[in-house]
Amino acid sequence: MLSEFDLIAHYFTRPVRDTARIALGVGDDCALTVPTPGMQLAISSDMLVEGRHFFPDAEPRALGHKCLAVNLSDLAAMGARPVAFTLALALPEARAEWLAPFSAGMLALADLHRCELVGGDTTKGPLNICITIFGEVPPGQALRRDAAQPGDDIWISGTLGDARLALAGYRNELALAPDTLSQAAPRMHAPTPRVALGTALCGIARAAIDISDGLVGDLGHILKRSGVGATLCVDDLPAGAALATQERDLRRRFALAGGDDYELCFTAPAERRGDVLAAALQAATPVTRVGRIEAEAGLRLTDAAGAPIALQLASFDHFASP
Ligand code: ADP
Ligand code: MG
Repeated sequence: MLSEFDLIAHYFTRPVRDTARIALGVGDDCALTVPTPGMQLAISSDMLVEGRHFFPDAEPRALGHKCLAVNLSDLAAMGARPVAFTLALALPEARAEWLAPFSAGMLALADLHRCELVGGDTTKGPLNICITIFGEVPPGQALRRDAAQPGDDIWISGTLGDARLALAGYRNELALAPDTLSQAAPRMHAPTPRVALGTALCGIARAAIDISDGLVGDLGHILKRSGVGATLCVDDLPAGAALATQERDLRRRFALAGGDDYELCFTAPAERRGDVLAAALQAATPVTRVGRIEAEAGLRLTDAAGAPIALQLASFDHFASP
């Protein structure tokens, strides 16, 4: 069994890669970062708990990736560029077979986004992984939830619903063909944070949120905070490749309220459509226009012909579900 200090030294300590931004990494009482003059610091935490956010037998490499991905997704939703993160880890036991792939999965994604692991805390206990992430955003350009305005287009990055479809397969809520499950599963295990898109949208988009609990619930946060309403065309929602093979009602429900998508939902003035598409191209991330912000409160759903549709939807809420 490794000691706490061996474990930190072995799996979570590396030479600082970007010494211009990180003056001191893991190993002292605090890390020291070098803020870019004039930038605002964007800070966010996300905790993943075994049995609640992931299955007890979750593959450790994918889990390491996902824990950091959900935090990077919060920076993306703010339009912030990643700088560094800390990792607070409770572990039942220090096993190399788990720690090596877990840290490899996490640090590979960290390298991809030049986001440095600068510290954390490690303790024995039921598996619990909490990351705090730090990013930078130009003043006045953060993509806040309270900034949507009537007339804005509503956009979605990537596709929706495949993570929820995979979950339904694992839980046996649906009998999925093995091919369908294996197509959907990576969206649940290894989400792609839309960091390049978020930063490219700074100065173009108005409001943004990352879709973790389902589009309807998460867009609802933008509507409430901005004091506006919206109409969404349900049949314009980009379904994931696996979900697209399923029947219409399931497609609609999982695209609207699936959860775990980690796509961006953002609003932008209608006259900036060209700029949004250019930002998406620059970020190599597809985007789809799915609706409009309106002055009238509430969320209205329509089909492709513009006719209203009523759906019973439950967005994911940890305290509302058993
Ligand atoms: P302290 O006693 O000051 O809390 P620790 O002994 O907990 O310090 O940690 C020693 C060093 O290792 C610190 O720099 C801390 O930030 C870092 N650290 C601890 N756990 C982790 C971890 N899981 N990942 C990265 N760094 C860690
Ligand atoms: Mg400590």
